Amino acid sequence: FFPLQTDREVVGVLELETSQALSAEQLRLVSSVLRVYKNFQGLLDYSERDTLTGLLNRKTFDESFLRSTAKAPQSDPSPTGHRDARRSPTSMEAWLGVVDIDHFKSVNDRFGHLIGDEVLLLLARLMRSSFRFHDQLYRFGGEEFVVLMFTGAAEHATAAFERMRANVARYAFPRVGNISVSIGFTAVRPGDTPAAAFERADKAVYYAKQNGRNQIASHGDLIARGVFTDESRTGDMELF
Ligand code: GH3
Ligand code: MG
Ligand code: MG
Repeated sequence: FFPLQTDREVVGVLELETSQALSAEQLRLVSSVLRVYKNFQGLLDYSERDTLTGLLNRKTFDESFLRSTAKAPQSDPSPTGHRDARRSPTSMEAWLGVVDIDHFKSVNDRFGHLIGDEVLLLLARLMRSSFRFHDQLYRFGGEEFVVLMFTGAAEHATAAFERMRANVARYAFPRVGNISVSIGFTAVRPGDTPAAAFERADKAVYYAKQNGRNQIASHGDLIARGVFTDESRTGDMELF
C-alpha cells in the first residue's frame, strides 16, 4: 500500500497486488508515478484552492455547481422546485449552504489578523470533519464559506448543517475561545443558476443574523412559514 499524497494531506491509498515483493527498481517506478501525481495535484490545487484553508476557491464554484447539480438526479419537473410526492425517495438532492462567522470583525480587533487567520484555518478543519467526503467546501470570501452537499432528504441536510453549527459552537479556539456561525441553506432547484441558489442561501443567513446568530436557517422553511415570499413564482410577472 502506498499513500496518495498532496502537499496538504493524504487523499487516498494506492494498492498494488503482486505475486512477489516489489524489487527496488519497481519501488522507484511506483514512487516516480506517485510524485507525478503529487505534482499534478499541486498544480490543480494552486488554481482551484484557497491558500490559507486549502478549501476550494470561489473561482471554481460556478463551473463545479453546474457540473455537479446536472449530475445529481432531479426528477422534479416543477419549475419552482417544490418537492413533491412523485419524487423517488432515493434521488439525491443538492443543497447549498452559506456559512458566515458571527462577529468576526471583533476577533480581528481583539486578537489581531494572525489569530483571525488561525480561526479561519481551524474553522475550515471543523467544516471538513462535519461534512462528508463528497460534499464540496469552499472559502468564498474573507470569513464566508459555502457548502455544496448531496443528500437524499431535507432532514439530512438540516441535520448536517446543524451538526456543523454545533461543532463550531462547542470548539474552544486557542486564545479566542468560543465563536459561532450563522448558516443559511437552500435546496438547489432544477435549472438553478449558481448565483440564484447562492442568493437564496445568503438571504437565509441574513435572517439567521437578524434573529440572534449562532443558528441555521432554511430558505425553504422560511418560505413555507411565510417569512419570505418565493420570488421565483412572481418573477415572470415582475418582468412586465
Ligand atoms: P456578522 O456577525 O454580522 O457577520 O459580523 P462580522 O463582524 O463577522 O461581519 P463583517 O462583515 O462586518 O466583518 C467581517 C470581517 O472579516 C472584516 C474583516 O476584518 C474580517 N476578514 C475578512 N477577511 C479576512 C481574512 O482573510 N483574515 C482575517 N483575519 N480577517 C478577515
Ligand atoms: Mg460576512
Ligand atoms: Mg461575519
